[in-house]
Amino acid sequence: MDHIENDEQFKGLQVNKGTSEQPTVNPYMNFKRFKRKEYTAAEYVDGILKGNIAILSQAVTLIESSKSEHQKIAQEVIEKCLPYTGNSIRVGITGVPGAGKSTSIDVFGMHLIKQHHRVAVLAIDPSSEVSKGSILGDKTRMEKLSQAKDAFIRPSPSAGSLGGVARKTRETIILCEAAGFDRIIIETVGVGQSETAVHSMVDFFLLIQLAGTGDELQGIKRGIMEMADGIVINKADGSNIEKAKLAQSHFKNALHLFPLPASGWAPKVLTYSGYYEIGIDEVWQMIDEYIAFVKKNGYFEHRRNEQSKYWMYETINERLKSNFYNNKKVQSELAECEQLVLDSKISSFVAASRVLELYFSEKNNNE
Ligand code: GDP
Repeated sequence: MDHIENDEQFKGLQVNKGTSEQPTVNPYMNFKRFKRKEYTAAEYVDGILKGNIAILSQAVTLIESSKSEHQKIAQEVIEKCLPYTGNSIRVGITGVPGAGKSTSIDVFGMHLIKQHHRVAVLAIDPSSEVSKGSILGDKTRMEKLSQAKDAFIRPSPSAGSLGGVARKTRETIILCEAAGFDRIIIETVGVGQSETAVHSMVDFFLLIQLAGTGDELQGIKRGIMEMADGIVINKADGSNIEKAKLAQSHFKNALHLFPLPASGWAPKVLTYSGYYEIGIDEVWQMIDEYIAFVKKNGYFEHRRNEQSKYWMYETINERLKSNFYNNKKVQSELAECEQLVLDSKISSFVAASRVLELYFSEKNNNE
């Protein structure tokens, strides 16, 4: 008897012996997947400059990769693309989930394409690190735009710190511009620090708001309002129009309390409906008007220069940090010191000095 269940006392219950596991039903399953062609840096650059979207996508994947051989090619491609960049208008869009960002970007994008622009949509979503998949910039969220041949949609890079994710997006902007995209939209969720990162790489920062219960201003961080070059109240349609108008006047009044931004441009507040495509023209007229205004008074150049400087330091900070934390000796010393701090044997400051000194002395010995 091979199974206890087949004993007399369990009559009526019959357990069969079972069979050995069959080989896979798909004999091709173990075959190597078709390997994507790897290009040289020069081939990438050539493809990108010709506007080849498949090659552009693959180059962005290299930017997002943490492998050092990928990074090496990516950096070479970026450098070679640099002379062909800077000629776009970069617009950051933020708003809480449900504000209508994807609906609006779909419509905004199509509006721009009708005006013969080429549109790239990128995203910064630090939460994707946790959820292992970006909720932003997802193609399925932008139905029309994702099928347009003059659009390129890329979800947020998912690995790393906010600084790392933001750097990758900034590098992707460079490649998109070199590929001839002259309107770059960068989307982010209006809930954390990612707005600052997006603000530091765009020419115009648009805040999408909803009309609510009368206290719209609650819950919006002052900092985000101060960053906005324009505030738009979405879903101004049907029975919501009156509420949207009311919210518009609340926002206008609130903005009056802030000092005039360094651009010299007083942010405007508009209402529109992304879903019913009402007021889309006006939103983009406002953006065009702003760009013309800051190009004339020199702020456009100034802001881009400040951003370049900011990114230089950000890149240095990122590199230093990752060099430090990836150092094997530092890692074991850190673990040890952390325990000593937890056991109250040494103070945090002594522990920090100990690890840093180890790192610096290592560096000096290697030089
Ligand atoms: P996101 O999370 O900010 O990207 O927001 P979505 O674009 O996904 O929109 C959230 C919900 O609001 C969806 O159900 C949309 O259909 C709806 N929605 C978006 N724009 C409008 C609008 O202009 N009017 C109305 N009535 N609903 C809208």
